Formats: sequence, C-alpha cells, structure tokens
Amino acid sequence: MSIDWTPLADLIERHDRFLVTTHVRPDGDALGSEVGMAGLLRQRGKDVRVVNVSPTPPRYNYLDEDRTLFEHFGKQVTPADLADREVLVILDLSAWNQLGDMADYVRGFAGPRVVIDHHVSEDDMRAMFFKDTTAEATGGLLVRAFHSLGAKITPEVANGLLTAIAMDTGWFRHSNTTPQTLRTVAELVEAGAEINRIYRLLFEQNTLGRLKLMGETLTSLRTEMGGRIAYATVTRDDLARTGAVPADTEDLVDFTVSMSGVELGLFFIELARGGVKVSIRARSGVDCAGLAARFGGGGHHAAAGATLNEPLDDCVALLLDAAREALEAIGTQTVKSAV
Ligand code: AMP
Ligand code: MN
Ligand code: MN
Repeated sequence: MSIDWTPLADLIERHDRFLVTTHVRPDGDALGSEVGMAGLLRQRGKDVRVVNVSPTPPRYNYLDEDRTLFEHFGKQVTPADLADREVLVILDLSAWNQLGDMADYVRGFAGPRVVIDHHVSEDDMRAMFFKDTTAEATGGLLVRAFHSLGAKITPEVANGLLTAIAMDTGWFRHSNTTPQTLRTVAELVEAGAEINRIYRLLFEQNTLGRLKLMGETLTSLRTEMGGRIAYATVTRDDLARTGAVPADTEDLVDFTVSMSGVELGLFFIELARGGVKVSIRARSGVDCAGLAARFGGGGHHAAAGATLNEPLDDCVALLLDAAREALEAIGTQTVKSAV
C-alpha cells in the first residue's frame, strides 16, 4: 500500500508548533517513531513537543538520553501548557481507547490532527490518516515519510526508527518482517543505527524484579484445549512481591506462544488502577484484532489487546470462552504458522 505524503508535507510547511503523541503503555515502535517524527519536524525548523499519556519505560531511556524529549501528560504537562500547539501528530494508534486519559484532550484539540499508523482496527478520529496496515511498524512508515519529504535520517533518528521496527517485528522474526523491512534496516544501519548497542540496552538490562516476574509468569502458565491455548497471569501481588514495575510485563506474553503446538496465547495483567489488560497473540488463523474487539480492544491480525473492567478470574473465563470459540471456528490446524 503506498501512501501519498503530500498532505503531510503541506501541513508541515504551513505550521510551526507541533505536538506529537502516542498510545498508552508505549512500546518501542511508539517511542522510536516519536524520535523519528521529532527529528523530521526539527529538521524543518519546527517547534516540537512530544507528550505521552504514560511515562517512558526506563528500558527506553536511551532514546532520550538527556530526558528532554518525552514529556508526561497530566501532572508534568497540562492542556493549558499545550495551548500554543497548532498541529497534533498521533503515532502508532488509530483507536480512541489507546489514548487513555489523553483522549478527551485529543478530541478537543482545535487544530489539524494527523494519524500515522499501521493498526487494522480504526476509529473515526477525525484526522488525516497516513496508514498502511501491511507495514511492519509505524517506524517503517516514517522512513517512507523521510524519503518522500527529502529529509535526512540522522544517527539519532536512525536509532529511534530501528528500535521501532525491531520491536514490532520481534527483532525481525515475526511474519511481518519482509524483504523491504530488511532493506529499511540496512538503510538505518548505514545512517548510523547501532543495532548491537540497542539490543544490549533493551535486552541485557533486566532487573532482579523483572526476572523474578518472569518466573512468576512461567509458574502461572496454563494450557487449554489440549495445548492449543496457553495463558498466563500477572497479579498486582506478583508485582509487589517481586519488586517488578508494570513496564516489566512487556513481551512476557511471548512465553505463551513459545510453547510447541500453541495456536493462541493470552496474557493477563492486573492493572494498578483497576481492571485487567489482556494481550492476545496468534500462531494460527485466529484473528486477534477481532477477538480483542469483542472486549472493546483491537490491534493487528496476529497481535492485539484489550482492557476489561472485570476481576481477573472473570476476565480469564471470558477470554478463554471466546478463544475456544474462535479456535473451534477455524478447526484443527496442523501447521503452526508464525505471526
Ligand atoms: P499489546 O498486547 O499491548 O502488546 O498489544 C498488541 C497490539 O494490539 C499492539 O499493536 C497494540 O497497539 C494493540 N492494542 C492493544 N490494546 C489495544 C486496545 N485496547 N485497542 C486497540 N488496540 C490495542
Ligand atoms: Mn505500539
Ligand atoms: Mn506499532
């Protein structure tokens, strides 16, 4: 799917003060794409603020070494502080619920809104959409925006966009990794992306708390339907006992689908503020976005999520029922396909 970036170029030319944001619980694609977008706009001489509804998970601090880029909406930055922003750029989401406590602010934003994204699920966000659901990551779309706008990929931008693409493709293992993904990565490495340093910063910085939380996650693993479904849970108590922080739950869902024969993985996290976040991953024909949508969530075909307001046990029961139904609908699969 090709994207016409001309309307974005026009918008950038006509305005000076930009606000960039992304989804709750930001991941590598969300934050790395913000680094890219901020770089692109600053090259054009624009004033940019990057304000997120969630704090930056510490493992991504290397994307903002002097801690001046990512700001935190709410306590640190109020809507009044953002009154001078002319254009809002929303990255890596197309659903209101992914904006969390920033949704009302975004709904009320008076100026033009831009969404750059690759998710299948889509709300009417009354925005200019630059979207390709076949793209591996929002970061990949930004590389195309750099090309189209004739902007230079600096080493800092290259590190951000490499992080974005690497994290959304599971470091180039998932089925959304294409030859074009790898060509893009080659270009980013040529532009200065430090693939080895980034990998080490992301994956060799475990805290004792996170490793213990992994242990709890593995202990909680259960299977259903003769091993076609695997699920795990993290309770508030698990977090408190292990000393882990909520961001330490990132990627733990991968354990569920790492088991041979598993077609659908579910991972439940009891949220500090109440409610339960479920992550859904498929290694079969089950449509995760469709499954998540039944609970008010969304995402991609092979990876999706939702937040429910029921107690943990009820959420598990509800999701398992829906998961069984979805697997029964596709019948028995003999080939375990990748994401
Ligand atoms: P996660 O399980 O949080 O890693 O999310 C998997 C994918 O689904 C990501 O691309 C998320 O952006 C997306 N996603 C997660 N939760 C939701 C939701 N409530 N609504 C729409 N998309 C979601
Ligand atoms: Mn994301
Ligand atoms: Mn993404």
